[in-house]
Amino acid sequence: MRRLAVILVLCGSLPAFGWGPEGHNLIARLAAAHLTPAAAARVAEILGPGITLQSIASWPDQIRRDRAETGPWHYVDIPIDRPRLDMARDCPKGDCVLAKIEDFKKVLADPAATAVQRKEALMFLVHFVGDMHQPLHSADNKDKGGNDVKVDFFGRSSNLHSVWDSGLLGRLGQEDALFTQYSEDLTEKLVQKWGKGTPEAWAEQSHKVGQKVVYGKLPKATAGAQVKVDATYERVAGPVIREQIEKAGARLAAVLNATLR
Ligand SMILES: [Zn+2]
Repeated sequence: MRRLAVILVLCGSLPAFGWGPEGHNLIARLAAAHLTPAAAARVAEILGPGITLQSIASWPDQIRRDRAETGPWHYVDIPIDRPRLDMARDCPKGDCVLAKIEDFKKVLADPAATAVQRKEALMFLVHFVGDMHQPLHSADNKDKGGNDVKVDFFGRSSNLHSVWDSGLLGRLGQEDALFTQYSEDLTEKLVQKWGKGTPEAWAEQSHKVGQKVVYGKLPKATAGAQVKVDATYERVAGPVIREQIEKAGARLAAVLNATLR
């Protein structure tokens, strides 16, 4: 079964899951560096000894197949041709990443929640604040979040979603090197600035990146042909991915600091 999953992933035939492990690790590591002492202590108490934010940041992707109801929780479908989020239109029945971020914040603040509920809420929250900053998790172009857009990625067959989840990030550098660069960018002042606002406003920013960059800078392809994603696109996308990951780290810290007092 595990081998089958590996083969499916390699074939790129699965719907992708948001940032790959590297993106989620970076976001969790950036956030962990900006937690208040009180929030850091609560995180340690909830997760248990020796368990880091980074080690649980991809857990919702690992259980997604076994818990089908959690699938829609990873994204919000704001139509690419609309200027703003509309919760009634884009988050039907509260089944989207924005509603779930609010739900899990409430669980963490609820003294009656069990230890298991609290731990799952924290693991979902860490992951979802990250996911919504992947622009294809906040923008919908009727192509399954870019999974249906076949691309030639530096000579390799891929799809637009996978390229934004992990392909471009993987070419930017190794995780530890990126963490060093990104944490130098992310000053406490920037954490304060980016941490302001609401997940709804952050999703609208992510959606705008989807409009302007993910699709706006994508070369046109003739029908049926792969879209060529090369160094020209990478030059624009790279800095955008860096900023989205830094923003996600800042905002995850802000959410946890406000929720885990
Ligand atoms: Zn995800």
